[in-house]
Amino acid sequence: MATVVGGLGQHATGGRTEVVTVNDGRALLDRLVLGVPPGESPVTHVEVIPARSGRTGPWPAWVPDTLRARLAGQGIAQPWEHQARAATLAHEGLSVVVATGTASGKSLAYQLPGLAALAADDRTRVLYLAPTKALAGDQLRTLEALDVPGVRPATLDGDTAFTERDWIRAHANWVLSNPDMLHRSLLPQHARWASMFRRLRYVVIDECHAYRGVFGSHVAHVLRRLRRVCAHYGSSPVFVLASATTGSPAESAARLVGLPVTAVTEDASPHGPTVFALWEPPLTALRGEHDAPVRRSAGAEAGRILADLVVEGARTLAFVRSRRGAEQTALTAGRHLAEADAASLAPRVAAYRAGYLPEERRALERALSSGELLGVAATNALELGLDVAGLDAVLLAGFPGTIASLWQQAGRAGRTGDEALVVFVARDDPLDTYLAHHPDSLFGRPVEATVCDPANPYVLAPQLCCAAAELPIRADELATFADGPGASPAVAPVREALDALVAAGRLRRRPAGWCWTDGDRPSVDIRGSGGAPVSVVESGTGVLVGTVDAGAAHSTVHEGAVYLHQGRSYVDALAVDDAVALVRADNPPWTTSARDVTDIAIVAAAATRRHGPLTVSLGAVDVTNQVVSYVRRQLATGELMDEIPLDLPPRQLRTAAVWYSVTQSLLDEAGIDQSATPGAAHAAEHAAIGLLPLFATCDRWDIGGVSTALHPDTGEPTVFVYDGHPGGAGFAARGHAELPRWLAATRDAIVACECAHGCPSCVQSPKCGNGNDPLDKAGAVVLLDLVLRHLG
Ligand SMILES: [Zn+2]
Ligand SMILES: [Zn+2]
Repeated sequence: MATVVGGLGQHATGGRTEVVTVNDGRALLDRLVLGVPPGESPVTHVEVIPARSGRTGPWPAWVPDTLRARLAGQGIAQPWEHQARAATLAHEGLSVVVATGTASGKSLAYQLPGLAALAADDRTRVLYLAPTKALAGDQLRTLEALDVPGVRPATLDGDTAFTERDWIRAHANWVLSNPDMLHRSLLPQHARWASMFRRLRYVVIDECHAYRGVFGSHVAHVLRRLRRVCAHYGSSPVFVLASATTGSPAESAARLVGLPVTAVTEDASPHGPTVFALWEPPLTALRGEHDAPVRRSAGAEAGRILADLVVEGARTLAFVRSRRGAEQTALTAGRHLAEADAASLAPRVAAYRAGYLPEERRALERALSSGELLGVAATNALELGLDVAGLDAVLLAGFPGTIASLWQQAGRAGRTGDEALVVFVARDDPLDTYLAHHPDSLFGRPVEATVCDPANPYVLAPQLCCAAAELPIRADELATFADGPGASPAVAPVREALDALVAAGRLRRRPAGWCWTDGDRPSVDIRGSGGAPVSVVESGTGVLVGTVDAGAAHSTVHEGAVYLHQGRSYVDALAVDDAVALVRADNPPWTTSARDVTDIAIVAAAATRRHGPLTVSLGAVDVTNQVVSYVRRQLATGELMDEIPLDLPPRQLRTAAVWYSVTQSLLDEAGIDQSATPGAAHAAEHAAIGLLPLFATCDRWDIGGVSTALHPDTGEPTVFVYDGHPGGAGFAARGHAELPRWLAATRDAIVACECAHGCPSCVQSPKCGNGNDPLDKAGAVVLLDLVLRHLG
């Protein structure tokens, strides 16, 4: 089984290190744990994903011969079955989402119908939307290489010169753009683009799982506005979406475009066998907050593994959470290579940064594909922009945020024939711990669904203003803006939002419909996260050091805060106002963390279910947060120095929350008395926040929680988890829908951690405003067991 094809990975020949490639994922994995005693192996699970042989089908009869000939010239003799199926559905006029793995050729699914339509009539138009400019650029190159007669592709983004835009309007028939451009330019100026909208046959939405949360909710409305403008010009385009493998792709896609969408999920492309290892770095002798044990960091571990794989000659891509982390991982790998007497290999390891020019990216991708470069550490941000597949190994240093991303990244490994290796290195948090111990959650059917919430009033209202400014909203169009394409979409929230906008004087009801009254067009930031970010400026020099989200400003750049940026520390001297924070470079021997007080009040429960002594609700809440002080800790030892009060105003957020409460008498019976309840509820809340990203495409920073031993609105011990964005983003709703599975995973994550009293891998949270106090790990398990039992 574990045959070493290439013999010993490395041997010194006359002072020069020579690399011999090992073509077996299992053998590579064996090398990584060589010399580790069996009981101490960091590998918690090994999954062998068998090879998949490809299944091709005949070209659909409607694909013209000229197009077949061009594709054959690019090495595509026949389409994979899923490509032909999705393409034919679209050709027949049905909106379709193709949700298959990385490098499964999703592009052909939309290229075939689009190119065939243009070959038949070059006045037809195709609009392609990508979440990043880089991706649109890649698509342009592919279309140019195909060079199908009559097809005139062009990219259109914020950088496109105005003279070029004129040419695109008049001549381009395959326009490659992004939702931002559609929102800001094409839709508001629809009359200028009338010829495109009139003839629009297909709208392609690539990497559609990227449209999630508040941004996704905005994009959902931009697409509804697009459909309305098209209808105005007499067209009704078919939507072709490409998605990573996720749970419920048809539902997510339908919610995004507001139309029924058929899903094609069976991947018929070939893939080599892959050995997928889950890896949990060991606990170290170091101690953290409340004396909790600390694990070796995922980044450091990944650096070491990367060096080992490079020595074996395996072309390896390591995905790391941050840019700094990627640089650190590459440096760590270089250091290990030097220590292993393989310093000559160090130049063949590089960090891959954002901001590279397309040509630079291509060069780096080529160097990695050819083996000239052996190890590259990249940030997750580059996941969509990278054009690399067929590598020997992929390392994932920490969960990339969504399971869709994880598979997107893992899919870069795997060649036809040879066995590839993927290693997921768990970080020190509850979700990573859970995944390392629950392989089913990765290798079973995906549960995570791409979530957005087009009914969010904070998104709906400004989007209705944009729509009304484009064309008056007729009374029979309300369903267009409703959430979901069902038989009876919920139009009541749309109607309420319109009435509120009329009352506020922003819209006026006229015979033609609801009209925009202001002269200026509404200005709506679809990528905004609530408020302009605060600029962090160095006081002496005026240099912009960085920016901080408005929502995080009070806790990160308050007076006295030590602000870390790119490995340098700054001390906040004076926060001038809400827009600018002045800092000075310094190197104090301490760190700071803010303490806050959060209150939550129930505004309205939309859904409440009682299960005996347990009550579960979903609804609207007001979250009031006030940063009240900060603590200073010795940098060297982590020891608490002092706590300094702050005078900052409270801030309020109206949002969506899911909450559950139990009676104190139920807890008493299980041995958790009133004094133990706060710690149990608090620990259960932290872990639940950590695990929600397994079920909804959110980051743990997108959500917050409050737990209390006696909540005034419920009169009982209560745990709340809320969306961190005004109006909600669909995360709490998804948690409510998946509550039994979510809380079961939360419980299992806590149980899986081998620490005694709680650590960052289970119940401690890096963003706790209470300094992770009190936390009762065992009590949380008892509480969750009670809740799960009564949920049935
Ligand atoms: Zn733990
Ligand atoms: Zn907390």
